[in-house]
Amino acid sequence: MSDLTKELKEKLFLKRKNGLLTASEEEITKANDYCEGYKSFLNSAKTEREAVKTAVALAEKNGFTPFDRSKSYKSGDKIYFNNRGKTVAFAVIGEEPCESGINITAAHIDSPRLDLKPNPLYEEIELGLFKTHYYGGIKKYQWPTTPLSLHGVFALKDGSVIDVNIGEDENDPKFVVNDLLPHLASEQSKRTLAEGIKGEELNVLIGSRPFKDDEGSELVKLNILKILNEKYGITETDFLSAELEMVPAFKSCDIGFDRSMIGSYGQDDRVCAYPALTAIMNVKNPKKTALAILADKEEIGSCGNTGLESDFLAHIIGDLTKMQGGDTSVAIRNSACLSADVNAGLDPTFSDVHERKNASMLNYGVVVTKYTGARGKSGTSDASAEYVAKIRDLLDKNGIIWQTGELGKVDIGGGGTVAVYIANMGIDVVDLGVPVLSMHAPFETTAKFDVYMCYRAMYTFMQG
Ligand code: MN
Ligand code: MN
Repeated sequence: MSDLTKELKEKLFLKRKNGLLTASEEEITKANDYCEGYKSFLNSAKTEREAVKTAVALAEKNGFTPFDRSKSYKSGDKIYFNNRGKTVAFAVIGEEPCESGINITAAHIDSPRLDLKPNPLYEEIELGLFKTHYYGGIKKYQWPTTPLSLHGVFALKDGSVIDVNIGEDENDPKFVVNDLLPHLASEQSKRTLAEGIKGEELNVLIGSRPFKDDEGSELVKLNILKILNEKYGITETDFLSAELEMVPAFKSCDIGFDRSMIGSYGQDDRVCAYPALTAIMNVKNPKKTALAILADKEEIGSCGNTGLESDFLAHIIGDLTKMQGGDTSVAIRNSACLSADVNAGLDPTFSDVHERKNASMLNYGVVVTKYTGARGKSGTSDASAEYVAKIRDLLDKNGIIWQTGELGKVDIGGGGTVAVYIANMGIDVVDLGVPVLSMHAPFETTAKFDVYMCYRAMYTFMQG
C-alpha cells in the first residue's frame, strides 16, 4: 500500500475501533470505578418503584427538592417531579429561560418480569403457588428454575401502602417457577421455543407446609395467608389492589476474567437510567434548563399515566415554563432530547441476526441509534440528519467514544423506545445508549466502558 493510499484511507474512511484500545488508562479506570455505583444501583432498584425511591434519595442528598407551584425558582435550582412513585423527573434550572429550550434525557426504569395476577394465590397437590402474568417481551423459557424475589406494594382501602421486598436479603427465602425434568419432557421438547414454557405455566412455588389441622382443605394456602397476615396485616382480598412483581433474586456482578463487563437483571434500561440520574446530579448552573426523566411502562409501550406516551412530560415543561411567565409550546419546540435506551450488542454466537456494518459492539462506546422500528422503519422516530450531526459534534468535541447501531437486520425483527413519543411532542430526539447482550433475559450483560461513555454523553448534553 502506497503512502498516498494510506493517507487517503486515513482521511476518508469511517473508523471503528474498540474504545479500550483508544481510551487512556485513566479513562478506563474511571469507567471501572463509575460502574461500582451502577452495580449497587442495580441491586437496590429492581423495579420502577424502587428505582424512583433510590433516585429520589440520591437527589435529596444532592439538594433537589420536590417542585412547588407556589415557589419561583432561579438559575441553578434543583427540583424534582415524582409521578405516582413510578416515574420521576429531575431538573436543574438554566440561566436562559425555558422558552429557549430544555435539554432532556429520558430513560426507563421498568424491566421485563413476572407480575402477580390480581387473584394469584392457589393451592394444588398440597403446594402453594402464585399465578403470574408476564410484563414486557420475555422469552418465557428463560424464567423457570431461577431464584426469584418478590417486590411491590399492597395498597389498602384506608389509603395506606405496604411495601413488599422478599428474597433480596441473603437470609430471605426465595421463590421459583419449576420446569419439567428432561426424563419426562419428550412431549414438551416437541414444542417450539416460544411455547417451551407457556404463559399459564409460569406459576411460582411459594410454600408447601400445611396449617396443622386434622381436616380441612387448602391448608398450605391457609398457612401462607397466615404468614402474610402476621407480616403485613393483609388478607387474600388485598391482592386485588396490589402491584407485586417477581424478579430474579441474584445480585449484579462483574463478568469475565478481566472484569470488563457487568451481569445483572434489569440493565435494560437501568444501564441508561443510572447514567442519566448521576449526570443530572452533577449538572451545575447549566445555560439551558436540564431535565432527566426516568419513566415507567416503556416495556409495554409507554402507555398509561406513568408512561411517556402520557402528557406527564408536557405538564412538567409547562410547570417550569409558566413559572417564568413563558409559553409552553415555545419551550417544547426549542427543546432537544437524548432518548437513553439500549441497543442489541453483537453476540458472536448469534451474529447472523445483525448486519455487521451497522451493529453495535461491546466496548465501542455509547451507541447512537438514528431509528428503531420494524420492517420499513415502521413505528419509529427517525432522527433528522441535522440533529444527529449536532450530537456527533457534541460527542466528538468532548472526546466521548461512540458508535452507531441498528437493531438487527432489516427483515429480522425490530423494536422501539420512548423516542417516538418525545418526537411526537415536536422535540428533536435521537436514541443513545448502551449495547446489551441477552437483552430482556433475567441476566443481561453490558461492558463497563460503554456505561461510562453513556454517563459522559448524558452529562455533556445536559450541562450544555
Ligand atoms: Mn429499553
Ligand atoms: Mn426493553
